[in-house]
Amino acid sequence: MNICPLCGNRARPVYVNPEAYFADRDLRLGLEVAACAACGFLFQSSAFSDQYQEVMKTAYQTYYDRDIFAFPRRDRENKKALDMVLRHLPADSAASVLEVGSNRGDLLYMLKEQRPECNVLGVDPGQSDDRGVPTIRRCFSPDLFASRFDVVILKHILEHFTDPKGFAAQVSTVLKEDGFLYLDVPNVDWILKEQTEGFVLHHIGYFNLGTLCLALEGFEPVAAQEEASLRAVFRRGRTKAPALRQDFSSLAESCKKLEHSRRELVGHIKRRALEGKKVVFYGAYTIFRLLYRELKAQLAGAVCHYFDDSFSQEREPVFGLPRQGRIDRGSLVVLCSNNSQTLDAMEQRVSGTGAEVVRPWRGA
Ligand SMILES: [Zn+2]
Repeated sequence: MNICPLCGNRARPVYVNPEAYFADRDLRLGLEVAACAACGFLFQSSAFSDQYQEVMKTAYQTYYDRDIFAFPRRDRENKKALDMVLRHLPADSAASVLEVGSNRGDLLYMLKEQRPECNVLGVDPGQSDDRGVPTIRRCFSPDLFASRFDVVILKHILEHFTDPKGFAAQVSTVLKEDGFLYLDVPNVDWILKEQTEGFVLHHIGYFNLGTLCLALEGFEPVAAQEEASLRAVFRRGRTKAPALRQDFSSLAESCKKLEHSRRELVGHIKRRALEGKKVVFYGAYTIFRLLYRELKAQLAGAVCHYFDDSFSQEREPVFGLPRQGRIDRGSLVVLCSNNSQTLDAMEQRVSGTGAEVVRPWRGA
């Protein structure tokens, strides 16, 4: 039986992908997502196994982002996060800012450009090159820090934990009483609404604003932006009773619909490839890598290329696929992202080429 990590009530499976791959290795694990019947939290129930935990232990240390993008990566996601943090920083204070899971330090670097008087520090287990942002290359632990911070940033971090509530509680011990937490997670409401390839092995928790509030006991949201990413600022305050109880059956129905269109579109790609259509993967990043690993056996003998207009260097594993300079009309283009706003932009760029587009996993 599955137990909800947020409220302790019973959860039931609502989505299965028996053939899921990790992006960074040829290892297949069954992916199962369960929904809590009481609070509506969606989480990867398949992550609560010894095998999963063993794989992930090494994965975060070898997580290669990273050198494919110019530093700092001034993309839409980083700019939006920066805007929201800056808006809540007191204007003239030399605030101390900690980012947990800071990776190369892109966001902290951009923050320091805007507010040179702030003291920034990152903590991340990944062994990235030094980019001038002071970073403790370890897993987060409260005892690494001698003093507390005015701001703590968790950008796309909380969704990686089996116990998000416990992790958030630990993180909050290094935050000053009057400080604020900035969080950024994939927005599950958008995943389901937009039918995006959002359920992936490396994500465990799937939040919306309601369940994010449940994970942050003793805090309340003072600002939130609900897009493909859910961005929110939390301060200490009265814990409110969860306002948003989800209707379990409608959640389960949306998840089943996604599962169904995923199967349907994987079959469609395979058929098209067998008919001799060239398959072009657009966006050679995490989602490409996990989709390609998953599809490559089925695409044996097919002509596959990749296309990418967001990075210049080629340091990602692209499985020996040739890079395509432009999209031509005869191809089947598979858009590779799990962010529906990124997918919109990609779709826009491909439109007019005459190519057939597959958007994982909006119905055909
Ligand atoms: Zn629950």
